[in-house]
Amino acid sequence: MTGGAGFIGSAVVRLAVSRGHSVINVDALTYAACLENIADASKDPNYFFEHSDIRNREELDAIFEKYDPEAVIHLAAESHVDRSIDDPSNFIETNVFGTFNLLEAARCHWQACSQPDTFRFHHVSTDEVFGSLPIDPSVKFTENMPYSPRSPYSASKASSDHLVRAWHETYGLPVVLTNCSNNYGPYHFPEKLVPVIILNALAGKPLPIYGNGSNIRDWLYVEDHADALLLILEKGIVGRSYNIGGENELSNLELAEILCRILDRLKPLSKGSYSELIEFVQDRPGHDLRYAIDPSRIKNELGWRPSVTVEKGLEKTVLWYLENEVWWKPLQRRKGVGKRLGTRA
Ligand code: NAD
Repeated sequence: MTGGAGFIGSAVVRLAVSRGHSVINVDALTYAACLENIADASKDPNYFFEHSDIRNREELDAIFEKYDPEAVIHLAAESHVDRSIDDPSNFIETNVFGTFNLLEAARCHWQACSQPDTFRFHHVSTDEVFGSLPIDPSVKFTENMPYSPRSPYSASKASSDHLVRAWHETYGLPVVLTNCSNNYGPYHFPEKLVPVIILNALAGKPLPIYGNGSNIRDWLYVEDHADALLLILEKGIVGRSYNIGGENELSNLELAEILCRILDRLKPLSKGSYSELIEFVQDRPGHDLRYAIDPSRIKNELGWRPSVTVEKGLEKTVLWYLENEVWWKPLQRRKGVGKRLGTRA
């Protein structure tokens, strides 16, 4: 797999190793990586780490040669929309060129490998490739919806999805694709909205909400995403894509208010509520209004169900941050974390 030291990739590593799978984690260890996320899993004899960049074809070829993997699950990416606005170049290089490189290395491996029929290339992508939805509960992203990415991040992910499909249609590479909604949960890097709200609240700092807070996201607990990814790797139909989501639409303001209510209960202030810290700030340029996933395909065809409600998942997440300051504190010192990014200023 690629990107196993990141937020979602590390959840996949933990789950896969706990289920007895052998995992080769290929990760360049960018600013967003954290090997502590997989400290326990990495002690497992079935876990292997390769500090490599997917932009380096020679290194990828050597890794395929060394391990002869049965499948690739590709999560490595630049993933923060705000950073993609300030500097899109890394997003094009890793998400587009890196995916191309990985596809080519995988194709060479697959053509020569001992079990070409069972080999899989699973590309992990985002619902953001579909663009922005109106506020209308009857309209959701289905797998057949045309792509309409609007940020450098989502455009780079859409490009990578197109490459993966093209490698299937043209070369027959056995691929599956997934497009997932916003994840949250333990080990979420402290530049993303959920940890920003929790950690700013704990520090008594303003809780920044872009625009008027009405933008809607569809939230999924990261461990439920990891479970869906392993299910699709095993049972997904080649050439097919699957939308993954928990059917938990919340506006950014609603999300912040729920997190504040949980914190008010778990770590009450001497007076008042954490929600008094909510502050509306300059909106993100091109901020997509609404994302909402229709997960019927994965539910009906593969029987997948998320394990937690968003209320329960957010409570588990807040508890985890309360108990794991030793994890998040040093990450707040990494470049750009805690700064307002992506204003086009
Ligand atoms: P992340 O930023 O937390 O982790 C990305 C990982 O990829 C890091 O460990 C990083 O070191 C590694 N990486 C980056 N560039 C690399 C390169 N050139 N070579 C090798 N490794 C490299 O990201 P995440 O939130 O865990 O997302 C993982 C994947 O899931 C991404 O492809 C993302 O587009 C997709 N996704 C994320 C979400 C979400 O809510 N976070 C939702 C849907 C899909």
